[in-house]
Amino acid sequence: MLTLSAKFRQSFPIVHAMAKRRISDFEGFQKVLNNAKSIIVLTGAGISSESGIPTFRGEGGWWKTYRSADLATPQAFQSNPALVWEFYNYRRHVALNTHPNNAHKALSEYEKKCKSEGHHLAIITQNVDGLHKRAGSENIIELHGNLFKTICTNMSFRDPNVKDDSLPVVMKEDLPKCKKCNSLVRPYIVWFGENLDHEVLRKSSMDNLLYEH
Ligand SMILES: [Zn+2]
Repeated sequence: MLTLSAKFRQSFPIVHAMAKRRISDFEGFQKVLNNAKSIIVLTGAGISSESGIPTFRGEGGWWKTYRSADLATPQAFQSNPALVWEFYNYRRHVALNTHPNNAHKALSEYEKKCKSEGHHLAIITQNVDGLHKRAGSENIIELHGNLFKTICTNMSFRDPNVKDDSLPVVMKEDLPKCKKCNSLVRPYIVWFGENLDHEVLRKSSMDNLLYEH
């Protein structure tokens, strides 16, 4: 797995120094933020839990009689794709029935402000719920994939916009198939034990975020 922190320390000595200071040094933080040309926001489950998205470590730790973390693996999909799809349809359903909260909206507004001032803001998120996009943010890197995308298990074809959350998951034959080769598709999610997507990693590299815009 990628450790962002080492790269982060190398690339952002100022911000890292800030992090070592007292967390209540808001003024100092604001100064650094106001002077920054490139800003990267890292978000995780905490920001979406305010919208009612359960976290794997909290309420969402279990689904039916299964541990959520056990279903979010390539092995689980291989042994019982119908069950894993049912779990992901449930997660889609939950995500579609929530709304971006004030934190998502504030980041979206801040991105617009940065843009108008010639600064650059990117959100790197571990969340797969799509709430940053629904709040209006544009420059989002989804490290762990997206609930509403699928990827073919055979040829890596990605379908970027799947809204269905009501799939009648019963038999393997009924599971969603690739539009191009008719193989089984799976949720476009980085599961436990899998590597991050190369293209997403390239986009989230500091060189790319700082210099290629
Ligand atoms: Zn395919």
